Amino acid sequence: MKRCILLFSGGLDSVIAAHLLIKQNIEVIGLHFVLPFNANIGKTFKPLIDSAKLLDIQLVIHEEKEDFLEIVKKPKFGFGKNINPCIDCRIFRLKQAHKYMLEQNASFIATGEVVGQRPMSQHKRGLGIILQESGLSELLLRPLSAKLLEPTIAEKNNWVNREDFLAIEGRTRKIQLEYAKKHNLQYESPAGGCILTAKEIVPKYQDLVKHIPEYTLPDFKCLAYGRHFRLSPAFRLIIGRDQAENNYLEKLEIKSDYRIEMANITGPIGIGKGTPTAQDIQLACDLIARYSSDRKKLKTNVKVIKDGLEKIWDSTPVSPQIAEKLRMQ
Ligand code: SF4
Repeated sequence: MKRCILLFSGGLDSVIAAHLLIKQNIEVIGLHFVLPFNANIGKTFKPLIDSAKLLDIQLVIHEEKEDFLEIVKKPKFGFGKNINPCIDCRIFRLKQAHKYMLEQNASFIATGEVVGQRPMSQHKRGLGIILQESGLSELLLRPLSAKLLEPTIAEKNNWVNREDFLAIEGRTRKIQLEYAKKHNLQYESPAGGCILTAKEIVPKYQDLVKHIPEYTLPDFKCLAYGRHFRLSPAFRLIIGRDQAENNYLEKLEIKSDYRIEMANITGPIGIGKGTPTAQDIQLACDLIARYSSDRKKLKTNVKVIKDGLEKIWDSTPVSPQIAEKLRMQ
């Protein structure tokens, strides 16, 4: 039995790709890549794990780290609509999958990609670039569009029968939905999607690049959480919107950061980045107070922690209008 590494998102297309391969007696290892936002935050991946269990395939979850930042900082093939470097991201993931294929003694790689489905990485030219740059050549099989593409090693060696794959092209999911229904397949809904494709992240990212061009992984991860404020050219503040975000921000705090929180009541966590003036710190305290249950009080106290030292500041919560003005939109 031949073994293959399938890039597995748990979504409709990769579940169908797995099913098409299993039907042809291929042992499938699902390799799931996660953008570098999820480490140590308690995400369970339950739907993904359930999906792999139902298909009876092995699942490996790999979270991207610092090396992914290089792609975002300088994508060779540019960004999509927002800050999504899709072509570079696909190439990067396929190269990682190739390494894993060799380690696992697998014979080829597969993906659930469909020709012409996504504007950037899955038009035919995009698929060609990805194939060439990843160095995979004929090792890469795309079962959902296989009959529209050149035969791959798996097909040429008769490890699989090309005629049993599909010839799907374009953005409509009609054929995939019919296939899933017919074979009673379960898959994750695409809700949420890739955070780098969200337009809300763009101003936060542009601000990060402008003020901290050599940003680190924790700086980058913070883009996924909280409200972001630019208080001055030297200081940015991120405030958690709920308990879960407070917990994430606490975990992402680095040595150079300022932690700002309510002194006497439970409230939001603020992480300050940069080299603030006293005026910046005062404004940060007044913003934290604005998002606490003391928001209607004239006076309250806020704690600022830096390098293990705590200082209590008197604070007057800012108005909602000022908060909105400072917020990156
Ligand atoms: S949508 Fe996000 S995860 Fe998917 S290829 Fe593009 S950048 Fe990578």
